Amino acid sequence: MRADYHLHSHHSSDAQPTVAEICQAAQAAGLAEICVTDHIDPHHPKPECAALLNFPALLGEIHAAREAFAGLGLGVKVGLEIGDNAPYRQEIYGILDALPLDFRLLSLHLVDGIDPYEPAYFAGRTQAVAYTAYVQAKLESVLHFQDYDALAHLGYCGKFAPYPPQTRPLRWRHAPDHLDVLLRRLAVDGKALEINTSGLRQTDSPIPGWDILRRFAQLGGEFVTLGSDAHRAQDVGYRLAEGARVALSAGLRWGVTFTCRKPIPYTLEE
Ligand SMILES: [Zn+2]
Ligand SMILES: [Zn+2]
Repeated sequence: MRADYHLHSHHSSDAQPTVAEICQAAQAAGLAEICVTDHIDPHHPKPECAALLNFPALLGEIHAAREAFAGLGLGVKVGLEIGDNAPYRQEIYGILDALPLDFRLLSLHLVDGIDPYEPAYFAGRTQAVAYTAYVQAKLESVLHFQDYDALAHLGYCGKFAPYPPQTRPLRWRHAPDHLDVLLRRLAVDGKALEINTSGLRQTDSPIPGWDILRRFAQLGGEFVTLGSDAHRAQDVGYRLAEGARVALSAGLRWGVTFTCRKPIPYTLEE
């Protein structure tokens, strides 16, 4: 069983493939299920990121793909990658509550109003300060965002950071106390922690890496989702098997998929 639970279609401003193209790529990669998780990032400073996606059009493509691929053994789910933005949470809840989603992936692309994608986020700060600020913002999000299923790319601060690949990933030692509170909260709430394999493109580590996954298991965490974060059809399913192996070696045994927000665990073992 392999399920890719972080995928972007052309309904995200930074991605190209249609839902049908994603499904074709998923089938070719031998996946059993996919979940399309286009962005909503209300009030992101970049207008193209803040623009609200055309959800009815996305849902139309999802329904067509479900029919086309059901007989071919591919499940097609619909989710959203929610860019949390604390001052606008009521607005975000209103958007989400009106949509028939299978899956809510809680993400964070803004720390103190800046996206760590931007070099400006790191200007004039040490790595320790830049990463600690990110973890604190992520902790605030986990403690206060009211209703979600899995936590996206814990370690996003390192994805585009201006450091060599060996030192770029967020590690547990960067913010052990805050990360422990965050991971314990996920575990107690029964939330899934995403293993985002896009990190393997530039570094030796998924996002998050083995040390944080290990700590999640030690603190009682049980469930993960696997996600390629593909923005192109050729990246669908990218190194998910390797992500599952990292989870297993960290002591995590259960992946999870979602249907109408209901979690359905599956074993990560092959
Ligand atoms: Zn993201
Ligand atoms: Zn994404």
